[in-house]
Amino acid sequence: MIRDACLIEDPTTPQEFDVVIIGAGAAGLYALHRMRGLGLSARVFEKGDGVGGTWFWNRYPGARCDVESWDYCYTFSEELEQEWEWTERFPTQPELERYFNHVADRFDLRRDIEFDTRVDQARFDDDRNRWIIRTSSDVTVSARFVVSAAGCLSEVNTPRFEGAETFEGQQIHTARWPKGGINVTGMRVGVIGTGSTGVQAIPQLAKQAEHLFVFQRTPQFAIPARNRPIDDDALEELKHNYRERWELKKASPVGMGRRPPEVSSALEVDEATRTRILEDSWALGGPGFARTFDDVMTNADSNQLTSEFVQDKIREKVEDSAVAESLLAIDHPLGARRLIVEIDYFETYNRPNVTLVDVAAAPIEEITPRGLRTTEDSYDLDLIVYATGFDGMTGALLAMDIQGVGGLPLRAKWSDGAGTYLGLVASGFPNLFMITGPGSPAVFSNVIFSIEQHVDWITDCLAHMLENNLDRIDSDPEAEAEWTRQVHEIAAQTIVGKTDSWWTGANIEGKPRGVTFYLGGTHTYREICEEIAANGYKGFVFQPAGNSATV
Ligand code: NAP
Repeated sequence: MIRDACLIEDPTTPQEFDVVIIGAGAAGLYALHRMRGLGLSARVFEKGDGVGGTWFWNRYPGARCDVESWDYCYTFSEELEQEWEWTERFPTQPELERYFNHVADRFDLRRDIEFDTRVDQARFDDDRNRWIIRTSSDVTVSARFVVSAAGCLSEVNTPRFEGAETFEGQQIHTARWPKGGINVTGMRVGVIGTGSTGVQAIPQLAKQAEHLFVFQRTPQFAIPARNRPIDDDALEELKHNYRERWELKKASPVGMGRRPPEVSSALEVDEATRTRILEDSWALGGPGFARTFDDVMTNADSNQLTSEFVQDKIREKVEDSAVAESLLAIDHPLGARRLIVEIDYFETYNRPNVTLVDVAAAPIEEITPRGLRTTEDSYDLDLIVYATGFDGMTGALLAMDIQGVGGLPLRAKWSDGAGTYLGLVASGFPNLFMITGPGSPAVFSNVIFSIEQHVDWITDCLAHMLENNLDRIDSDPEAEAEWTRQVHEIAAQTIVGKTDSWWTGANIEGKPRGVTFYLGGTHTYREICEEIAANGYKGFVFQPAGNSATV
């Protein structure tokens, strides 16, 4: 345990911990487990009343992960892998919430988690090398280290529409769906947003609502999930293959246990072979479609051939040709926005109780007491569903008042864009680690696998500090600037960021634009992180205990 760590019950003195972890989602739970393993005292603050993060909050109908269950799970415990039984290829929100609750119980994590408690402020005390953390319960604690596991997609984005406060029905963001659900039977429901969330919710809401209006601004590509139950034989095979899959994930650019594509470019094969490969990939379904060929994300011609294939497939599903064309008026290459995985989405527009409203052509003007008005028409509604996404990557971090050395607010440091070293630390904010922070691969990968890699790296770094009696870690500003430059340079070589979306920060008014993901691949990222650690944590600056000199 770090020298001055102790629990002080005196209410006038802040409780002291070695580590404060923000959030009890996939990242926070694993971070707590590993910090305890180092013998550190840790406290997790979680704003919800349960564990699971994304899978605690996103309870909207149809919510499920579109990374396969056998990849979207922890790998740190073989016992956990063997005892947990996934039931479907793409796990639903309730199944994932059960999984994270099981993990919390199995590893006895709850006793160090304070639920219903948000971190409002974290201030670095330069003299003592400690963070002073204030929570929504007006409690102040201090910690040597802070690990933010606040999530990349947890700060909700609810656009402000004129008159929203006058609406007499119910309005709700998908990430705030109530635990007991909403019975939409007999309701006229309006959904704003057709990203990954809207596309999952729309088919489910359509089954119950009297009428569903979908307010679509930007049509997007979506690939069929081809979800299926996992039978006993498949489960046995899965359990048998976890270690082999782990090796595949480690070698994969997106941390998934798939084999690399059959051919690297759509352009290097004849038309018949290309069509056969695309048909096979379409039949397989799921997010792997974006990697049907290696160069879909980098070569415009390869991308176009793939995009046209998908558009033809979608056209076949929608009976009304005008509706089909509205769904297909896609203004960006496939993969330039997060590829959506769908179940019965396009077929839903063949139902008589579903209307697609093009709000790019006729924007939403206002919300009225009775519903919603576009520049062309009015819609009477009982429920408005905001499937309008999140302030991604930086939103949750900047929602807190984080102040580094000299009281510098993180908001000020990042006012022109988020600079970090490896997506793990930001210079001037010593002893603060970010899990899946801006500048890391984050959601551009199987995020739970990236989370494990981040937490493992942070744990090793803290062990190094403990062994060498180091009190403080910061990044060298030059190393940070160089890493941030590389992040932008690599992004510029791909189609990511070539169109507006939450990936580029374009969905949030006033947010600095730019891709904040490391797109060089999680396998490369892992190697870089390991190499930096092996080279004496190159690019980091440490301070020995009891000494203000840096090393
Ligand atoms: P999103 O991709 O940002 O989509 C938000 C939607 O709301 C877009 O269609 C957007 O239209 C629309 N919108 C926002 N403001 C609007 C306005 N003022 N008027 C009209 N429309 C408006 O958010 P999301 O669907 O919640 O997904 C975010 C991310 O979460 C995904 O990319 C994915 O990484 C993750 N996610 C994963 C899963 C999964 O694993 N299955 C499920 C859901 C989400 P524009 O496009 O025109 O801005």
